[in-house]
Amino acid sequence: MIMQKAEQMLAAVGATSDDTEFYAPMPAGYRPGRTKYVVVVGTVMSGLGKGIFSSSLAKCMQDKGLTVAPIKLEGYLNIDSGTLNPYRHGEVFVLDDGMETDMDLGTYERMLDQNLSRLNFATSGQIFARVLEKERRGSYLGRDVQMIPHVTGEVKTKLRELAVATAADVVFVEIGGTVGDVENAYYIEAMRELAFEEGPNSCAFVALTYIISPPMLGEQKSKAAQLGIKSLLGSGIQPQIIACRGKDVITRKVREKLALYSNVPIENVFSMHDCESIYLIPEMLRGAGLDRTVVELLRLEDRLQPEAEARAREAWNGFVQRIRATRRQVRIGIIGKYTSVRDSYASIIQALDHAGAAAEAQVSIEWVDCTDITDDNAADYLRGLHGIIVPGGFGVRGAEGKIACIRHARENRLPYLGICYGFQMAVIEFARNVCGLAGANSTEIDPETPYPVIDILPEQKQIEGLGGNMRLGGRDVEIRPGTLAAELFGGVRETRLRFRHRYEVDPRYIETLESRGLVFSGKAPDYPIMQILELPRGVHPYFVGTQAHPEFQSRPLRPQPMFLGLVRAAMDFAAVSEQVPARTDAGRVCTS
Ligand code: GLN
Repeated sequence: MIMQKAEQMLAAVGATSDDTEFYAPMPAGYRPGRTKYVVVVGTVMSGLGKGIFSSSLAKCMQDKGLTVAPIKLEGYLNIDSGTLNPYRHGEVFVLDDGMETDMDLGTYERMLDQNLSRLNFATSGQIFARVLEKERRGSYLGRDVQMIPHVTGEVKTKLRELAVATAADVVFVEIGGTVGDVENAYYIEAMRELAFEEGPNSCAFVALTYIISPPMLGEQKSKAAQLGIKSLLGSGIQPQIIACRGKDVITRKVREKLALYSNVPIENVFSMHDCESIYLIPEMLRGAGLDRTVVELLRLEDRLQPEAEARAREAWNGFVQRIRATRRQVRIGIIGKYTSVRDSYASIIQALDHAGAAAEAQVSIEWVDCTDITDDNAADYLRGLHGIIVPGGFGVRGAEGKIACIRHARENRLPYLGICYGFQMAVIEFARNVCGLAGANSTEIDPETPYPVIDILPEQKQIEGLGGNMRLGGRDVEIRPGTLAAELFGGVRETRLRFRHRYEVDPRYIETLESRGLVFSGKAPDYPIMQILELPRGVHPYFVGTQAHPEFQSRPLRPQPMFLGLVRAAMDFAAVSEQVPARTDAGRVCTS
């Protein structure tokens, strides 16, 4: 009886009894052989663009009519990326289901034009938490819980769950870090086990490596790459494809050496040299035949749809041509406090790129450090810009500089887009300078403010039913008809945006703010949570803010409307304003 119960428990949790050393947990509904796996690992060093590579390859497969599902396996012990410092780790990307992830998930969503979920993201913290939870439930039935097979088993389960949930033809697994790191060693081992269990032609391993080219030698050297791949071979994994990163095209000589040392046919050793835009990479991979190699390795020939591929390539190439064409220049300033770290604003940069391609404008971004900006010098700092963005942010530092920039934009008809914190700062600026609420502020910045126009509203948090205190993920937004927002979103009454915030407009001030001309054109359907603000067209050509993060939803072929609106308004501004040269000294950190 007890044994029977134990067997049932085992079946339910995918655990194993001590009769066997095999441990291949299969979630309900998993059909072995249905889903194939492409596993991308990095060698030599991190930062090679594994996410860009993997998403580009996934796009090539998706274009062929295959269903693809990416997953990023992160080595760190955090449960999600929410607590990571974006200036150290890049931006925190928020998925529709509220999961806070690594910025690579943004790359996948953009490349694949596909919303992802928590199924597409794992950290060591999550994996271990699941194992420990099972251990406490007694699910391992007296077994000593081990890295192999239990932790690795949890990784395989995560991949197979994704396969079941998405009915994917191909799951793309990106392993964070570099082969040889202690923290991802068990991921590599899990992939070896997966390939063994799934059988021949079910997993393709791609080693992304880096070819060094020391300036004093003036030639490419393959040794570091060889050693990296050796280490992968030592883990029991034979890559079928090697993609070589490097500044210039990787020479045949180097590729031959790698082929010889790692048992990979020369045709499968590709040059993945730098190119001017990440959006060129899918065509670059196709040009090198990498897509066909994967199809052959995984025996996917029968599932392809060639007509779909032709259509997808045509649409994509149109976009690529637009980004490469010569276009009218507009300068958009991004006002921040640590503006030199580009990765922390990755999605905003991308959203401006997409909008620029659609509006036929070449958007050059100028990073404006707001730490020393005041009402008196804001005009100097912003001179020559055609539009500004105040992006998301936390804490006190730099807030007054941002408010001064917003005031300048509002009073001088300079196009403005406020994102999350930038929305809140716009409310504060309007409350102070238009409604006469001197000292108005957010309680995040000044808990003693006489006018807490932005505040934490505990009763609303209760309504939202959040365990933590961040409002996270996709939420519906009701759009007020006849507003600029309605126009931007093409006349729809409701849209969906992504959020990541703790503070919001205190509803007690809505009437005062609106009576003086601020328009809340988007709000939560059932609660007084203000989500979009604007000034009427007659007052200002483009003054828009949103409590959301619209940058997370911009896609190459579907630019986000608020960014598109900003770029178009900036083009108009550029056309009418005198072209005063931009300041080149203090304030501007760098130009792209
Ligand atoms: N700090 C603000 C809040 O918590 C804004 C957050 C953000 O910009 N993401 O509400």
